[in-house]
Amino acid sequence: MYKQPVLRNRRTLLERAEKFISDIYFTDCNLRGRLYGESWPLESITSFLSPKRIPFAEASQQKFLPYKLGESFGPTWWTCWFKVTLRIPESWRGKEVHLLWESDGEAMVWKDEQPFQGLTKEGEKTSYILSECLRDEEPHSLILYVEVACNTLSGAGQGSMIAAPDPNRKFSVQKAELVVFSRQVRELLTDFEMLIDTVKELGEGEQRGYQALFTINEMVNLCDPSDPGSFPKARARANAFFSQRNGDSQHTVHAMGHCHIDSAWLWPYEETIRKCGRSWVTVVRLMEKNPDFIFACSQAQQFHWVKSWYPGLFSQIQHYVKKGQFIPVGGTWVEMDGNLPSGESMVRQFLEGQRFFNQEFGIHCKEFWLPDTFGYSAQLPQIMRGCGISNFLTQKLSWNLVNTFPSNTFFWEGLDGSKVLTHFPPGDSYGMQGKVNDLVKSVRNNKDKGRANHSAMLFGHGDGGGGPTQLMIDRLQRVQDTDGLPKVQLSSPDKFFSQLWADSALLCTWAGELFLELHNGTYTTQAEIKLGNRQCEALLHDIEIASSLALCRDANFQYPVEKLQTLWRLLLLNQFHDVIPGSCIEMVVEDALRYYEDIRRDGAGLLRDALRVLGSKGTSAALFNSLPWERTEVVQTQDGAGPSRLALVRVPSVGLAPVKETQPVTPVSVTAQDDGTVVMENGILRTVVNRDGTLASLSLVNVSREAVPDSCHGNQFVMFDDVPLYWDAWDVMDYHLQTRKPVQDVLQPARVLSSSELRGVVSCSLRISDKSTITQEIIMDAACPYLKFNTEVAWAESHKFLKVEFPVRVHSLNATYEIQFGHLQRPTHRNTSWDWARYEVWGHKWADLSEHNFGVALLNDCKYGYSGYKNIMTLSLLRAPKSPDANADMGTHHFTYAIMPHTGSFQEAAVIQHAYNLNFPLRSVQCDTDCAPWSAFSVSSAAVILETVKQAEDGKGAIVARLYESHGSSVTATLRTTLPINEVCFCDLLERRDPSRVAHVTSEGIILHFNPFQIVSLLLIL
Ligand SMILES: [Zn+2]
Repeated sequence: MYKQPVLRNRRTLLERAEKFISDIYFTDCNLRGRLYGESWPLESITSFLSPKRIPFAEASQQKFLPYKLGESFGPTWWTCWFKVTLRIPESWRGKEVHLLWESDGEAMVWKDEQPFQGLTKEGEKTSYILSECLRDEEPHSLILYVEVACNTLSGAGQGSMIAAPDPNRKFSVQKAELVVFSRQVRELLTDFEMLIDTVKELGEGEQRGYQALFTINEMVNLCDPSDPGSFPKARARANAFFSQRNGDSQHTVHAMGHCHIDSAWLWPYEETIRKCGRSWVTVVRLMEKNPDFIFACSQAQQFHWVKSWYPGLFSQIQHYVKKGQFIPVGGTWVEMDGNLPSGESMVRQFLEGQRFFNQEFGIHCKEFWLPDTFGYSAQLPQIMRGCGISNFLTQKLSWNLVNTFPSNTFFWEGLDGSKVLTHFPPGDSYGMQGKVNDLVKSVRNNKDKGRANHSAMLFGHGDGGGGPTQLMIDRLQRVQDTDGLPKVQLSSPDKFFSQLWADSALLCTWAGELFLELHNGTYTTQAEIKLGNRQCEALLHDIEIASSLALCRDANFQYPVEKLQTLWRLLLLNQFHDVIPGSCIEMVVEDALRYYEDIRRDGAGLLRDALRVLGSKGTSAALFNSLPWERTEVVQTQDGAGPSRLALVRVPSVGLAPVKETQPVTPVSVTAQDDGTVVMENGILRTVVNRDGTLASLSLVNVSREAVPDSCHGNQFVMFDDVPLYWDAWDVMDYHLQTRKPVQDVLQPARVLSSSELRGVVSCSLRISDKSTITQEIIMDAACPYLKFNTEVAWAESHKFLKVEFPVRVHSLNATYEIQFGHLQRPTHRNTSWDWARYEVWGHKWADLSEHNFGVALLNDCKYGYSGYKNIMTLSLLRAPKSPDANADMGTHHFTYAIMPHTGSFQEAAVIQHAYNLNFPLRSVQCDTDCAPWSAFSVSSAAVILETVKQAEDGKGAIVARLYESHGSSVTATLRTTLPINEVCFCDLLERRDPSRVAHVTSEGIILHFNPFQIVSLLLIL
């Protein structure tokens, strides 16, 4: 009897199987060529082109004209609606029938006036199932609409993905026809694919790979593509392999469907709404067919959009949320940037997100979900904990350019010691495909082998949406427990993290920030967005405080709950991780700046309304101080219609005072010297301004301490070449530091612009290039411990980076930077790779370099990028990347920074308070002529900052006061208030009462104990 020879050539056997399922080679005789059977043309296809994104009801009423396949339409960002009339041939009875649709752009099928399924070639969705098994009683004739957006999953970059969009892109439908689909062939192809990948991934070192190899070879032998009767035998071989089980110790991969949809990036916000619709409706279709399929979905804002644009889809989502398949995760309004939003903004991301999920779905998220961000504030663990979250899933740190992060599963300990269980999927992606490669990577890359035996795998096309496909689910279901591969569970975040907690004894802990060693240009790119964020954060802060006080003062005052929520949501939306970092296209920048304008305009009205109540509608000039300490400052003021003038005024903490001028102890003096320098002095500081605007000297008068080192100049502008490796708007590379060029071309030498006993102003302008200039006013105010630089830059550069340097007479191995609700230190040296990778870092309102008993702080009103190397403190000012926004940062910019030398520590010198003062201007208000100064709140300890005062979310009659310890000390402080408070209780950041802590209220005020950097929230019941 004939016996088949046994073949040993790994290569020919493997390649033979690959060719058997190839969609390029041998499709005339291989299995792939049998996936589709007969085809049938559509009855008709007509189209209507719209420049706008319009609702279905409007689109379907338009005049549709005949469309010929292959005809082009566009341009970019338009929408082409298709009306498709089809009739399925009777003879296809018993067959699976698809509409095959291959087009450019992102498409969505509408059926019965509802969105029904996404059809996007890039997202591997080209088939719309008309019938799984055609029956006679089914309707054979049908009208469908297909809405094609003229953009790809990742926008419309000209030439490369992140290039600025091509505004004139053309699109077409290449294929639209009915086909008979062979489910059997599809299943067998998936078997083959998984086995072939197993052979490849396990390699030549593992016997299991060879078992897979001989299995596929036998399957090819058994399978005759022209005879479906031969398929079951081949499938049985595959099943036999897949069902050989693992031992108990095997690693488990928790596979969760996911679809990363950037709320705006290479496409505008408005397109994101449709991306959500297309992606999520497809997810719902998958859920109907796959009861085990679970999909984790973040960003309350996107749910909110879908609710208002696609109410029908939203109620289907609600249904699957109830079933536990469609799982809202993350608890935030958007997946925000992890560096730049203020502490209060981060709290509000969670407050808005968690409250939305609770209202719409009755759900409280237990995990923070931020796969894609350009860094992670050391305050996030405490903020998460305060919002009822103890788990964190992210991924981006695997992009580090220098150091490999040592863990995938670990406890992350924040600035105050709060811990959250953190997981980075070891597959290093948030858009996996469910392939064998993804599974094997999840085990091999796991840096916590032996400590964590579970890992997460997020599968589904992402960034621009798309999401999971049936094929991905099919792949994963085949290998749920297959010897040689990790075990696979279609799982939920909750199940996954519960497993990690259950077995967490050996996990490591990482303390402090998670610094991303990449994308450091995002602290600076799109300066107007950064300015908008900082100013609007301050404005909303002031509105809330003023409105809360107005509420206590006047029972008829209406706290603007809804308007404030609208403005907060706009601010939070712009904090999305491709908007506030400035890594978005120009259209998004325009939207973002418009939202800031909305906040400024509507916010100004709200602030005025509240201040009017506080000022009792008088006509005398007064000032409102929203900060919790008394301030004495020089301000511009005006009585009625009189001329504006400068005044030195004192305003109590969180309170109001009429403008009563006080005399400065030491008047400001400004003297132009014969050598072209100008000396400015106010009794605290003395500085010598050079002809070119740099500082030859800056000293503390009382202690005769000089801050500028010999032969150095403070306030030195410097330019760098700024050409990254790829990510233009995102990255500034280490090598830019070697291209430093001081800006020395003086257009207008330093001259005294004005000089009074209250304020001296020296102005100066410099030429950066023939296209760009700097004009600066150097301002010294009476009684002010810092020198201020009001700066205007006309900026028209290309791939350049402007910074300003302050070399200081301080020796210290670490500099300090303000972050959310606190500060942290970073090295000023380059000892290790972890040190030198931090050549460009982020901070908020201030940075400080101090040695014992002396230091210098650098303050700013809208910047976030710093560097501190040796004794030079540098503030990053402007960049000029060309993609994805070809016009990023071009134009005129205004910003202010300040330099503050001090004795003692920065805490003792009140650097933190002065940085707040610079960012929260005293607000003008009108009051009665006999109005007395009054204060609503004060705090006994300078270490404790009353950050937020707002009406409680759950209504009138209660105010929330949020405080934090800012020095990094354990301290007891008394919060005093003159408001009529009846009861005080502790609450969490979501404003839920904390019955475990009892407030200690005395006649002095509320006694509060703080640990370093602790955030405390109180409910003050009126
Ligand atoms: Zn993203």
